Amino acid sequence: MAEVIDVSVVLSPSTATWGSEPVPVIERVSSIEAGDGFNLSRLALGVHTGTHIDAPSHLIDGAASVESLPLEALIGPVLVVDARNVAEEIDAELVERELSEGCERVLFATRSSELWDEVGFRSDFVGISPQAASLLVERGARLVGIDYLSVGELDTHRELLSHGVVLLEGLDLRGIEAGRYRLICLPLRIVGADGAPTRAVLTAL
Ligand SMILES: [Zn+2]
Repeated sequence: MAEVIDVSVVLSPSTATWGSEPVPVIERVSSIEAGDGFNLSRLALGVHTGTHIDAPSHLIDGAASVESLPLEALIGPVLVVDARNVAEEIDAELVERELSEGCERVLFATRSSELWDEVGFRSDFVGISPQAASLLVERGARLVGIDYLSVGELDTHRELLSHGVVLLEGLDLRGIEAGRYRLICLPLRIVGADGAPTRAVLTAL
């Protein structure tokens, strides 16, 4: 059987969340121990919690929301780029060097994957510069992913989302070697939402 590599983070009340994002709540509303016939839990969380996607409506009012994202962008060949020696920001030079024309999906593995081991939100993650984002659009990217909780500043988000690029954030890419894989990413189909939690896995091409 082909190996399936999970690149999602676990969701729990201690999962680090962005400053303004609520902490995940997972609570039992029925429990066998308390005499109910079954266990049943309720989940409350921000839609940008853990491994998640950003829809265009996250930054552009009235733009496409999660339920209408094209599944073709979310499933298919993907290039994992090793950007672990980048200190602060993935720049256009790196994109120029690593990405060939027509590369539709790319994930940047950075030092930020290690931040998942820290307690609480960390702002010293590696993002993508707006210039690098423009080049990604030019090269034909349909999905751009990164470890930790954000692809970068608002201009980076806007550049990518305004061109219909799906953003996959909050990956854990520790131990994933650079190269080509197949990505399967299926965010929850929440009507009108600007983002959605997702499971994301890699398999051999
Ligand atoms: Zn997000």
